[in-house]
Amino acid sequence: MGIPTKDASVVIVGAGPAGLMLAGELRLAGVDVIVIERLPRPTGESRGLGFTARTMEVFDQRGLLRRFGEVETSPHGHFGGLPIDFSLLDGKHFAAKTIPQADTEKMLFEWAAGEGADIRRGWELVGLRDDGAGVDIDVGTPDGARRLRAGYLVGCDGGRSAVRKAAGFDFPGTAATREMFIADLTGATIKPRVIGETVPGGMAMGGPIAGGITRIVVCEMGAPPRKRAEPPPFEEVAAAWQRLTGEDISHGTPVWTTSFGDATRQVTEYRRGRVILAGDAAHIHLPAGGQGMNASIQDSVNLGWKLAAVINGWAPPALLDTYHSERHEVGKRLLMNTQAQGLLFLNGDEVQPLRDVLSELLRYEDVRRHLALMVTGLEIRYEVGPGDHPLLGMRMPHVDLLTVSAATSTTRLLHPARGVLIDLAGDGGLRAEAAAWADRIDVVNAVPATQEAGPLSGLSAVLLRPDGYVAWAAPGSGDDLETVLRRWFGAPGAGAKHEPVAAGSAVAQ
Ligand SMILES: Cc1cc2nc3c(=O)[nH]c(=O)nc-3n(C[C@H](O)[C@H](O)[C@H](O)COP(=O)(O)OP(=O)(O)OC[C@H]3O[C@@H](n4cnc5c(N)ncnc54)[C@H](O)[C@@H]3O)c2cc1C
Repeated sequence: MGIPTKDASVVIVGAGPAGLMLAGELRLAGVDVIVIERLPRPTGESRGLGFTARTMEVFDQRGLLRRFGEVETSPHGHFGGLPIDFSLLDGKHFAAKTIPQADTEKMLFEWAAGEGADIRRGWELVGLRDDGAGVDIDVGTPDGARRLRAGYLVGCDGGRSAVRKAAGFDFPGTAATREMFIADLTGATIKPRVIGETVPGGMAMGGPIAGGITRIVVCEMGAPPRKRAEPPPFEEVAAAWQRLTGEDISHGTPVWTTSFGDATRQVTEYRRGRVILAGDAAHIHLPAGGQGMNASIQDSVNLGWKLAAVINGWAPPALLDTYHSERHEVGKRLLMNTQAQGLLFLNGDEVQPLRDVLSELLRYEDVRRHLALMVTGLEIRYEVGPGDHPLLGMRMPHVDLLTVSAATSTTRLLHPARGVLIDLAGDGGLRAEAAAWADRIDVVNAVPATQEAGPLSGLSAVLLRPDGYVAWAAPGSGDDLETVLRRWFGAPGAGAKHEPVAAGSAVAQ
């Protein structure tokens, strides 16, 4: 006898940063979504300790940044341990430094659940079948086996993704060559060591993080990669730390420990039929420069509106394919830069000449800017169509705006996750032209709030995609507005249709 379970347009596997961000984005577009998460409750553990400038912007454009309260930011960054001052970048935000990943996940959970996502903890995907019309998902739950049926299944289930394996995605790359440890602890004092501080025999970094806790990261030369079922015992981490630094921390109290490696892999396609991957499920790499969670969140922001457009019935034919073409390229560069950083900070004296050459190059502002843009994700330029305006395909930076009745900003206009056509020249014709897309696009008459129009300088209008990237700018785009509206927002008046979830039994096995 089976207990009927709820069908959904989308089932997301994994309530990590990628899964929760995607759930929230889909809900903003009115899509019904179930998130299944195998852990009955959050672990409270934090691999990441902050997020990049671009993720600050992404949270801000959904009105989420304020949920953290005061966010401490810092312009100090690095590339492979070589310091870079990020204040040379344009933008409203620097990276957040003191928000543990667990707090980010908590914020995203509360947001997504508040928007109506159905998040089921203790539910683990154990199998799936895409029959072309929908996906059957076999799930283990505290109450026994269940089967869900969804229009689409998105695997946001991390580096060891069961979805990736079950759906047969190719995941080429290089295997881990070494094992590294992290331990958060209290009750033991260490000499603070910054990233890139090599010591004879390996790399050791550590220092205070929030809440009176000290974090250490240890990489011993020659420590072979190991598959562990359990986190490494604190004694093992403390012993490695002592061998490298001479400091005895064995009397400390561990908060948590984990081991990780430098395996670098990426799926060859981000979607196979009705099964899609986002986040670590699609790409794994050395955690260098704090980028993984950011890339995962941004995968989801890229995917959310496109998948919603398909489900809501207005997606132009190739829209969902651009999720792969845009994010695979971003992931490829992420793998490249984390591998390069690993070579710099995880090796010994043999790479010192390389560090020295790069240090010399870093005296040039263009080089610093190039690397800073790369690791913050602010370099991303999507292929949006012909044109020579520098904003095309780039993320829209924050600009304060005034409408006839209120103060607003480019950031604020993106809160509802819809397209935004900003008419800066009061051209009534634009509004009339976009009227047939009114269910997908907000048309706003506004002018920059200050004399300094910044990136909007010289423009009469700009069209933003729901993910905050510039699809069209006038003058400067090689296409007319209607062509671009059709390219990114589908046929006029085609919205508001919901693709029905193909009929399925949705019963327990
Ligand atoms: C040591 C270390 C330090 C890091 N530091 C940083 C940093 O400073 N900054 C940064 O940006 N990134 C950092 N990262 C990377 C970051 O932690 C990941 O990129 C991020 O967690 C990926 O998010 P995700 O949602 O894709 O996957 P995950 O966070 O791994 O979430 C996947 C979720 O899926 C669930 N799940 C798995 N299998 C199933 C299943 N079969 N059924 C149901 N649920 C399932 C899991 O329980 C989990 O909750 C670090 C990583 C490591 C290892």
